[in-house]
Amino acid sequence: MNVHRILLSLALAAPLAIQSPAAPPVAAPHPILGVDPSYIDPAASPCRDFYAYADGAFDKVPIPGEYASYGVNQEIDERNFAILKGILESSARTGGTKGSIAQRVGDFYASGMDEALIEKEGLKPLAPLFAAIEAIKTPAALVAEMGRLHTQGVHAGFGFGVQVDDKDSSAMIASFWQGGLGLPERDYYLRPGKEAEAIRQAYVAHMTRMFELAGDAPASARSQADTVMALETKLAQASRTLVDLRDPQANYHKVARKDLAALAPGLDWNTYFATVALPASETSVLVGQPEFYKALGAMLGSEPMESWRTYLRWHVLRTAAPFLGSAFVGENFAFYGRTLSGATELRPRWKRVLSAADRALGEDLGQLYVKTAFSPAAKARALEMVHFHKEAMRARILAADWMGEATKQQALRKLDTMRAKVGYPDRWRDYSALEISRRPFVLNVEAAAAFEFRRRMAKLGKPVDREEWHMTPQTNNAYYEPSLNEMCFPAGILQPPFFDEKADDASNYGALASTIGHELTHGFDDQGRQYDWQGNLKDWWTADDAKRFEARADHIVKQYDAFEVLPGLHINGKQTLGENIADIGGLRVSYEAFKLATKGKELKPVDGFTPDQRFFIAFAQGWRTNQRPQALRLGVTTDVHSPVRWRVIGPVADFPEFRKAFGCEAAPATQARTAIW
Ligand SMILES: [Zn+2]
Repeated sequence: MNVHRILLSLALAAPLAIQSPAAPPVAAPHPILGVDPSYIDPAASPCRDFYAYADGAFDKVPIPGEYASYGVNQEIDERNFAILKGILESSARTGGTKGSIAQRVGDFYASGMDEALIEKEGLKPLAPLFAAIEAIKTPAALVAEMGRLHTQGVHAGFGFGVQVDDKDSSAMIASFWQGGLGLPERDYYLRPGKEAEAIRQAYVAHMTRMFELAGDAPASARSQADTVMALETKLAQASRTLVDLRDPQANYHKVARKDLAALAPGLDWNTYFATVALPASETSVLVGQPEFYKALGAMLGSEPMESWRTYLRWHVLRTAAPFLGSAFVGENFAFYGRTLSGATELRPRWKRVLSAADRALGEDLGQLYVKTAFSPAAKARALEMVHFHKEAMRARILAADWMGEATKQQALRKLDTMRAKVGYPDRWRDYSALEISRRPFVLNVEAAAAFEFRRRMAKLGKPVDREEWHMTPQTNNAYYEPSLNEMCFPAGILQPPFFDEKADDASNYGALASTIGHELTHGFDDQGRQYDWQGNLKDWWTADDAKRFEARADHIVKQYDAFEVLPGLHINGKQTLGENIADIGGLRVSYEAFKLATKGKELKPVDGFTPDQRFFIAFAQGWRTNQRPQALRLGVTTDVHSPVRWRVIGPVADFPEFRKAFGCEAAPATQARTAIW
C-alpha cells in the first residue's frame, strides 16, 4: 500500500473496492486479534503454501455481490463505514450553523441521498459544461476548455497537478503527466488477444449506451463511441507502460515555461496556463512524458474538432455518471464495476455517497471519526511500534554486508529523518471556502473538486507544507511519500484485526508487517532508494553498492515473474518490484521489531501456537481475501502490487525463522537470500 504521486492517483470513475454486511461499531470487551484459528486449513502444508495454510478456510467465505474482492480489508472498511454512516446521518438530521462542519457533511450527505431531486434534475446541472464544449472551434479554445474541465475535476486530455519537485523537495511545482484515457491504462487499448478485444468492445458498447442516455440517437451514439475509442487509442499509443512509469529519473523533465512551445508546439500552453491561473512567477514546470505531449500537441491540430468535442463530452459524462440518476449510475457500474472488476451488485447508495464525502470533505469527516475510533492510548501504542520498526531497520542497514560504509551512513541519515504520521493530523484542513448545500448532488461533487484544485494551485510559490496529510484519517491504507521522506498510518488502518491497542505484540506486529514494515521499506526500495534524506531525487549510492542492490532486485524480479496467477497469466516482476521489495523487507523488519519489543518478556503459546507462529499467521491472515477472476486479472495487469496470495508466499519463501517456526526444511539453494533488507 503506497500512494505514489498524488497526480498518479487521480480518481478513475471505477468504483473503489469497498464494503458489505455492517458489523456494529461497539467497543469489543476483548481485543480482536490478528490471529483467528478458524481460518486455518490444517490439511494444507504451511511450508508448501503458507497462504493456503493460514487463510485456507477463509476460501469458503462468499464474496458479497457488491464486491470484486472480499477479505480482511473489507471487514475493516465495513466497521469504519458503520461509524461514518452514523456521523453522516446524525449531521444530516440535526444540521448545523452555516459553514460548520456538521452543516457541510450533513448537507453533502443529504444531497447524495436525495434521489428524487437527482432524478428530477437529470443532466440539467451539466448543461453549462456541455454548452461550453459545443462552442469549441479552435485548438486554443479546446485547450482552454480542457483547462476549465481540469479545474472542475474532469481529467480529460492529460494530467495536470501540483506536486513537490522531486529534485528540490523544498519547492512545489506544477506538473504534467500522461493521461486522458477512459480505460484503466494504455495496455487496455493495445494488448492483443480475445480477452482484451472483448473488453474494448464492451467499452465501446458502454460509451454508446451512455451517449444514448444523454439523448443521442442510437446510430449517432455508436459512431461517437467509435470516435472516442479511436482518439483514446492514439493517446494510449503515445503513453508509457506501467513499468516505464516506475522509473522516477526517466519521468522527470523540468522544462522552462518559455521552452514548452518548442517541446509541444501544437499545445497552446499560454492559453492553458491562463485558464488554470498558473502564476507568472512559476517559470518552469515538470513534464513527465515529453513524447506524450508532443503527440498530443500534434493531435490537437490534426484530429477534427468534432472528434475532440465528442471526446470531452464523453469524459464529462464518465466523470459525472456516479453522481447522476439511476440510469447513468447503473450503466457506469455495468462497465467499470461488473465488466472490469467482476462485482455483481451495485453498492448501496449510502456507501457510494460516503465514499464521495470522504473525497470531498475528508478531514471534516475525519475530525468526527477519530473521536470515536482512535484513542490517545492507541496512538501511543502505534508510535511505539513505529519506534521499534525504525530500530529494526537501523540494525538491518548496519548488518547489510553488501553495502559499503559511505552508503550506510546516508541510509541511516535517511532513516533518522524519516517522519511518521500516525492517526490524524495535528492541524485540520479548513473547508470553510467550500459551499455545500442541498442542491443536486453532482454540483456539490463538482464544487468540491474545484475547491481541491484551487487548494493545490495555492501551494505554488509557498514552502512545502510538511504538516499536510495525503490520506484522510478514516482511510484504511497507508503510504510512504519519497519526496517528503515520510510515512503515514491513518487511524482507519490502525483498526482490528490489524491493530488493537489491547492485543498482544505477536498479533499487532504480525498483522501490521504489511503496513508499518512495508511502508518503512518503501524508503529503501528500487524507487525510494533514489531519493535522499531530504526527499530529493538524487543519487547517494556508490556505484558498487547500487550495482549490488540491482543484482538483488533482479532476483526478486525473477522470483515473482515465475508466479502463475491464472493459467498463462504471470505476475510482472518489474511492474511489482517496488511493492515486492517492501513486502519482503517489511516482513523482515516487522519480525525484528517484534523481537525488540518483546525482548526479555516471557511470551506464552496461545491456542497451541508459539509466539513466532502467531506472528507469521497474523501476517498471512492480514492478507486473507477472496477475489473474483476479473478482479485478479485487472490487478495483475494494472496494479503495482502482487495479488494477495503471493504477497504472503513471496516474503516467507526464504525466511529461516519462519521455516524453523513451522518445522520446514531449509529453503532450496535456488531461493536462497533474494531479500534486500
Ligand atoms: Zn506499498
